[in-house]
Amino acid sequence: MSAGRAHSYTWLNNRLEPTEIPAHKYMSLMKRWISAKIDDVQLFPTSPSTVSFAPNAAFVSVTAFSVSDSEDWVGRSSGFPKEFASTCKTIFLQMFRVYAHLYWSHFVDPFYHLNLEKQLNSCFSNFLLTATSLDMLRAEDLEPVQMLVDLWAANGTFPPKSKAYSFAHVKSGEKLMQCGLEAS
Ligand SMILES: [Zn+2]
Repeated sequence: MSAGRAHSYTWLNNRLEPTEIPAHKYMSLMKRWISAKIDDVQLFPTSPSTVSFAPNAAFVSVTAFSVSDSEDWVGRSSGFPKEFASTCKTIFLQMFRVYAHLYWSHFVDPFYHLNLEKQLNSCFSNFLLTATSLDMLRAEDLEPVQMLVDLWAANGTFPPKSKAYSFAHVKSGEKLMQCGLEAS
């Protein structure tokens, strides 16, 4: 699966070697991987007895994980494991890669031809706003779609106070907008 010429996304095979696979296969493996993570109750606790904000939290031992008090991480006090944030980041990055592939390889056909580009833009711009504000994606992760980020900062899709906006080169976005106006 790729996103433009500079970005090729590989999947680890059974021997943990990065392997080039077609996008549709990458997406179904990715979907399965994300579902397995979300269904993993160690990672995303679903039982009230394991999360400290649950009604019977008073009975929950916050030292369920054998760690020293000096160690801290996102979600620790609510019963989430140490790798919770890093796994969430990987989930966001995997989803981002699918969007990047859709924009590079399928924006015109089928999205534009089917009049669905507005829906795609709406989904992706909201995804970027959320992912960046939660620190799930870094500025360098957005490189395959930097032009889009620049454009959305310039045309007001990203509010100026948003993190996504801070990752944009607004001047480049303004130039892109001018090109669009001249072309139409
Ligand atoms: Zn494709």
